[in-house]
Amino acid sequence: MCQRHGLDVHIVETPWGHGLPATEYEAILKADKNHTIKVVLATHNETATGVKSDIAAVRKALDAAGHPAMLFVDGVSSIGSMDFRMDEWGVDVAVTGSQKGFMLPAGLAIVGFSDRAMQATKTSTLPRTFFDVHDMQKGYDNDAFPYTPPVGLMNGLKLALEMIEDEGLENVFARHRRIATGVRHAVKAWGLELCAVSPDVYSDTVSAIKTPDGFNATDIVTRAADKYGMAFGVGLGEVAGKVFRIGHLGMLTDAMMLSGLGVAEMVMVDLGLDIKLGSGVAAAQEFYRHGV
Ligand SMILES: *Cc1c(COP(=O)(O)O)cnc(C)c1O
Repeated sequence: MCQRHGLDVHIVETPWGHGLPATEYEAILKADKNHTIKVVLATHNETATGVKSDIAAVRKALDAAGHPAMLFVDGVSSIGSMDFRMDEWGVDVAVTGSQKGFMLPAGLAIVGFSDRAMQATKTSTLPRTFFDVHDMQKGYDNDAFPYTPPVGLMNGLKLALEMIEDEGLENVFARHRRIATGVRHAVKAWGLELCAVSPDVYSDTVSAIKTPDGFNATDIVTRAADKYGMAFGVGLGEVAGKVFRIGHLGMLTDAMMLSGLGVAEMVMVDLGLDIKLGSGVAAAQEFYRHGV
């Protein structure tokens, strides 16, 4: 998207399954003596691989380099489900959507601006067409919207936020962590591995599970949908066909997760993988009985 806007983008590559390399960011920022870099972009929770990154470490890299660039974070699959600290981590722009942790249909982009980012919009020169934050601000100041507001979704968002507040944000995070940990126990019991390389980067909202070499992981997703009416996620990009994904965010309980694990097992057995029916479910059940 930045390149489509004609921006000069320095892409920092890491192997799939790893978190973002804050030390490499720091080196790049330190080398940028003239401060030509305006913004550092980071994804908090990478949804194709189920990898969580350390956003506080990116802020530290910026500070250690004494660099004034702003920090923009994609929190689409984390905000509302996993701990996210916009102020504490010095995030200038954070974006999420209605369709993940907020439990709604797709349609709303929810964007937060720091004072600094808001200030910068006054002098920035990139063209803006449909979405201009100033139009939104002017509208909000008058209890109005610059365009037709999606009232249905906004009523839904109000209810979703009430649900989150009733449960308590910390409890929502703990529930996601518990459900995800149960999934990880199941994956281990199946003798499979996550795409995420180490526990510090395990996502609490989505797990990408590697299947054995020569097996097409997408077949799991197709069969789960066709035979059992359950939606898993396919692998994307470099891990297409190599992983299948279980999304475990939003309005989800331990019991619902167990049914997903049960279907995953049936599908894998149907497709000839060496998995014992009930093995992952039992591992998750044992964890959910005791997990907090
Ligand atoms: C789902 C997701 C998106 C995409 O959101 P769209 O509304 O489909 O554009 C972007 N980033 C992350 C991290 C996501 O999980």
